Amino acid sequence: MPTIISHAVVPLLFGAAAGHRRISRPLLAAGAIAAMLPDADVLGFKLGIAYADAFGHRGACHSVAFALLPALLAATLHKPLQTSAWRAATFVGLLAVSHPLLDALTDGGLGVDLARPLDQHRFFFPWRPIEVSPIGARFFSMRGWQVIQSEMVWVWLPAALLALPLYLLRRRWDAAPRKP
Ligand SMILES: [Zn+2]
Repeated sequence: MPTIISHAVVPLLFGAAAGHRRISRPLLAAGAIAAMLPDADVLGFKLGIAYADAFGHRGACHSVAFALLPALLAATLHKPLQTSAWRAATFVGLLAVSHPLLDALTDGGLGVDLARPLDQHRFFFPWRPIEVSPIGARFFSMRGWQVIQSEMVWVWLPAALLALPLYLLRRRWDAAPRKP
């Protein structure tokens, strides 16, 4: 996996670019949680569930089907999230899917179980530039620093480059005079 920090950086950058009028702070927080949520499956190691099992790390919790759960929950809770049901489901669902897609760009571990239950093939992209974060990585070690550097280049920077034009467009849009 990229580190849990980098999974949260993606929603935080896009949410900030879109502005809190479109992506409320509670919705942004829900998106960040959804982007980190699939890695809750590492708890399975403590329960004796093997990495390659259906519910092992990067297994069913890293599927598109699983991402529907936080999306549906967000739609149900759209009022406290201060948004519409479709916007809550779309934002949270896309961020939940962003997690396994980023994992599939890492250079180690097993692939992600993206299409479960339709297909149990563990998926990786053919090009995998992100250094895999060791499970339970100590971020203050040399290895942890290398992983963070790799993620800055391959996750934070591309996300910022995509979020920047969105931010500039939103500023222009918000500043444009409204028709009475
Ligand atoms: Zn993961």
